[in-house]
Amino acid sequence: MSKRIRIRYVGAVQGVGFRPHIYRLAQAHRLSGWVNNGSAGVTVEVEGEETALADFLKASVDQAPVLARIRKTAHQEIPLAREKDFVIRRSESNDTVSTQVSADAATCPDCLKELFDPADRRYRYPFINCTNCGPRYTIIEGIPYDRPFTTMKNFPMCPDCKLEYNNPADRRFHAQPNACPVCGPQLVLLDRQGRKLKGDPIKNAIARLRQGKIVAVKSLGGFQLAVDAENQAAVKTLRQRKVREDKPFALMAPDLEAVRKYAEVSEAEAELLASPERPIVLLEKRPGPGLAKAIAPNQKCLGFMLPYTPVHHLLMAESNLVLVMTSGNLSDEPIAFKDNEARARLQPIADFFLTHNRPIFIRCDDSVVRVFENQIYPLRRSRGYVPRPLELHFPEKRTLLAVGAHLKNTFAFAQAGQVILSHHIGDLDNLETMSAFEEGIEHYKKIFEFEPELVVHDLHPDYLSTSYALALKLPKLAVQHHYAHTASVMAEHNLEGPVIGVAFDGTGYGTDAAIWGGEFLLADYFGFERKAHLQYIAMPGGEKAIKQPWRMALSWLERIYGKDLWNLPLAFLRKIKRQDAKFLLEASARGVNSPETSSMGRLFDAVSALLGLRLSANYEGQPAIELEMIADESERGAYEFSYSEDGGKIVVEPEPVLRRVLEEMGKKEDPGKIAARFHHGVARMAAGVCEKIREQSGVGEVALSGGVFQNFFLLSRLKGILEEKGFRVYVHQQVPTNDGGISLGQAALGLRRMRDVFSGSHEG
Ligand code: ZN
Ligand code: ZN
Ligand code: FE
Repeated sequence: MSKRIRIRYVGAVQGVGFRPHIYRLAQAHRLSGWVNNGSAGVTVEVEGEETALADFLKASVDQAPVLARIRKTAHQEIPLAREKDFVIRRSESNDTVSTQVSADAATCPDCLKELFDPADRRYRYPFINCTNCGPRYTIIEGIPYDRPFTTMKNFPMCPDCKLEYNNPADRRFHAQPNACPVCGPQLVLLDRQGRKLKGDPIKNAIARLRQGKIVAVKSLGGFQLAVDAENQAAVKTLRQRKVREDKPFALMAPDLEAVRKYAEVSEAEAELLASPERPIVLLEKRPGPGLAKAIAPNQKCLGFMLPYTPVHHLLMAESNLVLVMTSGNLSDEPIAFKDNEARARLQPIADFFLTHNRPIFIRCDDSVVRVFENQIYPLRRSRGYVPRPLELHFPEKRTLLAVGAHLKNTFAFAQAGQVILSHHIGDLDNLETMSAFEEGIEHYKKIFEFEPELVVHDLHPDYLSTSYALALKLPKLAVQHHYAHTASVMAEHNLEGPVIGVAFDGTGYGTDAAIWGGEFLLADYFGFERKAHLQYIAMPGGEKAIKQPWRMALSWLERIYGKDLWNLPLAFLRKIKRQDAKFLLEASARGVNSPETSSMGRLFDAVSALLGLRLSANYEGQPAIELEMIADESERGAYEFSYSEDGGKIVVEPEPVLRRVLEEMGKKEDPGKIAARFHHGVARMAAGVCEKIREQSGVGEVALSGGVFQNFFLLSRLKGILEEKGFRVYVHQQVPTNDGGISLGQAALGLRRMRDVFSGSHEG
């Protein structure tokens, strides 16, 4: 007997070949009916024998296309319609629930085969793609996901492409960016003046790269700057022109084998390198001759990625070079992505432009990840991952916007138990980044049809993200920074709490208006208690102490030795101007521009400066990173903190640790051993404090978050000790541990508290 059912598929089911998949299955099971894309997802009506319907339903999920992520299906029986065929209907655009735009995906194996097959009509065509791969998020202007709403709208398909597009049996059936050399975008190589070079752009670009020239390459989410990674002079030139002193450059290698020449690659790392998301993976450098030193000065890691667009594949395969592939921007500006703007901005840096006429609609930087204990540990979640939603099991239906923090900003929208984090926006301290932030929010409202009813922001009154939030005519929720860090780990692991949140980072505004950053919070979704923190110390000159870590060292020396500090036999004291330093300490004593901080990041800075590693920082976190890099892996010793109490809170005193550092420096102890003993000291201290909190509260779950946990020396040791003591330890696996993950914590807290907010009973 015939039946008819209507099925809804919700999730990442658009732009991933889902409709052709449904079409083929319906054909195979001899069912009639239709399928279409709406903004709520994919709807299917099928009619036929009952067993065929059941088989169809199962296969539709089990055999879904590789890029599809079905979150929910629902079906119901409806009256028969008795059509003859199964058809793909035109997209509708007037549904009310948000849709899901899928992420950009690396060129798939089938397309790669064609790209390098001289008999194929897309042989060496730099824009080859299919339903399993290619641009998505970065070319979508509006919804539904159909060609007229993408930046491919200006490329009418030729008859051959149209045949593929309309043939349900074809791999390019309804592939919106489908194109070929006849009808699609074209690649060109331009010189600095914008003049087009004659001949094959790929071959020309390779010739220029071999000469040590800098080539700007238009990629998926923006321009990249490429240079031969073995050419030290060329890499140095790139550093100078980009005004980037030491911050490591990412690399692109032709294949895994090439990566292995320069770095150790575990199985988990290899899998990530080759995944459709193709992030930059930080890998341990291999000893031996290799790439230009200027790529990653004072680092033990190299960031590698594999080619992910056909342009990259052609460049890599035909040159066999390893290239520096860094974001196309000057210093801290956002990555350039619009053609004219990019040419103007990158002209002082790039000698040539390998570019094309398929516009990028929204910028999206390369993602950066590491592997921790065989799991992905994101450092920047952007291209390839965005806008894939994160799932929360909260029933709240209302929509909220979480504006994130200040550094490494991402914002997030949350609705119906899902959080969609934005691509990496950057540090919100210049006009360009701020407008990227605002435009990003508007874009999300459009493509996901979000209309927020609540805005969640950081407690810091001076963050531009806070000002933005405060200007919106919406109910607001302010969330303390380290509480948001902790909540982001809880959200990832579906923890209800209470947990012990260990939040170690550089800067976060505290409820007492001090700058926090070495925090132990007992937290659930409805509040937190600050159980312990690092002892406060003045940050002489405020924010300047972040760029000049010697100020933190000086501040500690003054605390410990008073005026005697000037008699200490410290090399570092001879490198700073005594008069300036004295003024600074006087100002600090009077409380002028010297906020109090409990930041763990600043403690690492102080030790780094004392050891003479870094008196000033050329990028965020550099002093701490260089301290980690010299830490001796074989050393087991640890310096001991002391503890005091303040109104029921444990106050962790770094003073004895710093005394030991200085003592051992006086004995000319190896700085690598001192660095290791400091790291071990922090790990043991943190585990010990967690034990004390467990004794009081009975809570045995620990969430580790904050930028300091980008330090694997510390992270692995602390996690190890905690587990020995019987704690369950949670670390990030989906969003960054740095401030790029703050918006998730804000969103989770906001969703959970939505009901209170709307009944008027909330507090910050
Ligand atoms: Zn493909
Ligand atoms: Zn064509
Ligand atoms: Fe933070």
